[in-house]
Amino acid sequence: MPTVTSADTMTRHEWAAEVRRLARERDAVILAHNYQRPEIQDVADHTGDSLGLSRLASTVEASTIVFCGVHFMAETAKILAPEKTVLLPDPNAGCSLADTITAEDVRAWRSDHPDAVVVAYVNTSAAVKAETDICCTSSNAADVVRSVPEDTEILFLPDQFLGAHVKRITGRDNIHVWMGECHVHAGIDGGTLRERVAEDPDAELYVHPECGCATSALYMVGAGVVPEERVRVLSTGGMLSAAKEAEADKVLIATETGMLHQLRNANPTTAFEPVNSRAECHYMKMITADKLLGTLREGTSEITVDEDTAARARRAVERMVAIGTPSRGGE
Ligand code: SF4
Repeated sequence: MPTVTSADTMTRHEWAAEVRRLARERDAVILAHNYQRPEIQDVADHTGDSLGLSRLASTVEASTIVFCGVHFMAETAKILAPEKTVLLPDPNAGCSLADTITAEDVRAWRSDHPDAVVVAYVNTSAAVKAETDICCTSSNAADVVRSVPEDTEILFLPDQFLGAHVKRITGRDNIHVWMGECHVHAGIDGGTLRERVAEDPDAELYVHPECGCATSALYMVGAGVVPEERVRVLSTGGMLSAAKEAEADKVLIATETGMLHQLRNANPTTAFEPVNSRAECHYMKMITADKLLGTLREGTSEITVDEDTAARARRAVERMVAIGTPSRGGE
């Protein structure tokens, strides 16, 4: 039997070279989410937000996609690129937000509001997307909501903070919001944000709208605690674009800490610091150097979505694509 080398016994350079060699051999492209470990982000062909990566999945030439992210992201890639093999290095990499709602929950909710339009954030399973009318990302959620006639009720899922943000900026009161939350983003709450802003009163703030602190950040602007021009509510893709042009000495970041790696690479002259340094998604961090090697060697674990579910979910995703500019959205 040939000796199988573990990532632990290799230097970072040897590991990266082996990953690249195996990817070529398997005709695979490696996609990594912005919240992945730094070494995974660095070895990937493309790093980005969930929807940007899924859209890339449908345009790349490689026959296999190794998705370094969480399960619903790999499923979305499979929905948009059904002819490709999609591999997830750890099939247990889930998402606490996506897990707050099932397809059955959506059907029951809809039966209470039969004329409503169901709008779902991309952080949902394929089965939930299949029950959805239109998907959205954090950057085009408001445009998606505005595309629905004013007098039509909307069922917005699964994130309560994004739902509250969309309600606030569209001024609509006929939006019902599912009370789901991501445990990582909910942990970046108003109290944490207030303390951090008090420590660094001159810093700018980039806030992901899924954060528990999004409401608090906007409240602080209203109360004059933080000047309006210093606070931006942005998707992770939006954060990256803003970071490239940032001139501030320091920017506080309210999202999962993996994002800091991209921001610091994009602009080494500005200091990017987390609002909560413990805001780490353990699902995202389940993708390790060793598991990526294993997937490339053995072709595990393949993600599949049955044809009927995929076709219905694809319609919801394609409607979203027709409405906004989702390439810079999602987490
Ligand atoms: S950070 Fe939250 S929303 Fe994102 S994958 Fe992790 S649990 Fe899900």
